[in-house]
Amino acid sequence: MEGYDFDLFVIGAGSGGVRAARIAAGHGARVGICEESRVGGTCVIRGCVPKKLLVYASHFAEDLEDAAGYGWEIGPSTFSWPDLIRAKDKEIDRLNSVYLSLLDNTGVTLYETRGVLQDRHTIRLGEETVTAKTILIAVGGRPWKPEIPGIDLAITSDEAFHLEYLPKRVAVIGGGFIACEFAGIFKGLGSEVTQIYRGDALLRGFDGDVRRVVSEGQVRKGIKLVLEANVTGLTKSGDGLQLTLDNGDSLEVDEVLYATGRVPNVRNLGLREAGVEVKASGQIVVDRYSCTNVENIFAVGDVTNRVNLTPVATYEGHSFADTEFAGMNRPVNHEYVPSAVFCQPPVGTVGYSEEDALHHIGPLDVYVSEFRPMKHTLSGRDEKALMKLVVAKESQKVVGLHVVGPDAPEIVQGFAVAVKSGLTKERFDCTIGIHPTAAEELVTMRSPVRSHG
Ligand code: NDP
Repeated sequence: MEGYDFDLFVIGAGSGGVRAARIAAGHGARVGICEESRVGGTCVIRGCVPKKLLVYASHFAEDLEDAAGYGWEIGPSTFSWPDLIRAKDKEIDRLNSVYLSLLDNTGVTLYETRGVLQDRHTIRLGEETVTAKTILIAVGGRPWKPEIPGIDLAITSDEAFHLEYLPKRVAVIGGGFIACEFAGIFKGLGSEVTQIYRGDALLRGFDGDVRRVVSEGQVRKGIKLVLEANVTGLTKSGDGLQLTLDNGDSLEVDEVLYATGRVPNVRNLGLREAGVEVKASGQIVVDRYSCTNVENIFAVGDVTNRVNLTPVATYEGHSFADTEFAGMNRPVNHEYVPSAVFCQPPVGTVGYSEEDALHHIGPLDVYVSEFRPMKHTLSGRDEKALMKLVVAKESQKVVGLHVVGPDAPEIVQGFAVAVKSGLTKERFDCTIGIHPTAAEELVTMRSPVRSHG
């Protein structure tokens, strides 16, 4: 690739960018990568990983309480937010170093600065410019807040990971992944939590039964759930913040966390200069090979707003590198991507919701089991679990599998292989359950609770 400094230059060292850089370098490409924040990206630095650590932390209060039902008498306990944040930061530092060595070990040149496209082969890196035959944009997304009076007083998940104290009273705005997860975290750690959502059940886009069970679950945990309401403004009030709602109510809290979605991180990236097509939302338009309308410029991950999940970004980055630098033919396929919401209890899901399956698949058999997890027979905790299969009537393929309950993400990761492989309900039925588990329900449900069509 003479004439260019690099065969591949990657803008953004998050999950998708780092994977693509490493794999391309492994295929023999000369690779450069730049990052304006910390190597590791949203998932490692301010997303999935620190979030999961906080979810673990928030579970202990309940676990200590539940132990009483099993004969344990546990003395007074206290929780230190600063200790938790320190421990979490140490782990994030460790992972950041792992990512740095991964790049180093594969011979990728790292520029710890912002990269801006100057034209379709040139990237400006501060005072310096470099050229590359192929460019990959993997800059991810950033939190978005609606423009309402006083919105600057509210934090997003970015800041929630670095609060100096555990707020006593928190309002969480939104009904999606981040809102449900953080409402659970703050509640578990001892805050008074009000979750405010404009819709009538949390987690729009998920299966209807999942949405109902999660909405009820948040309330069971003691989260004050305010549905069908919008915040109209925020003002300072004494030491706290006053929120006004369009249903006429108002409330005072110590912190307001907005989790109202994320947008592609494309501001001043030079996309216009390079001729890259972008939708009004900022989303970079790509084909099945993650190629933009400019043939040497590619994009992966949240900036393309396809399925905004870390493992999807790494898969897109890996497929791109194999296709472009090893001559393989690896288009991406976003069907049957499993996902989880780490609310409490968590959700694991793969495939179609009942509602979407009716629309896209046709006649269905639907199997549902709702029960109290065995652990809570003695703990006495009022918690519900849900197991659900959505089956295409004609082919008998399981096209949707949804779990709410302890370990749901772990359970669904395994079952996702079966659903992705197009297995039929009969294959599920002939699989022996593991007893006693919650997951055995998924292979022992025999009669549909309803059929459509
Ligand atoms: P989501 O898109 O999941 O949820 C956004 C929420 O904000 C929705 O409930 C939405 O309501 C609401 N909302 C949007 N605009 C407004 C508005 N103007 N006023 C009031 N409410 C509004 O985004 P998140 O921020 O929760 O997460 C961003 C992405 O990050 C997710 O899509 C997911 O891909 C990823 N993520 C994945 C996680 C995981 O895998 N466990 C964890 C965290 C994030 P409505 O539904 O009515 O549109």
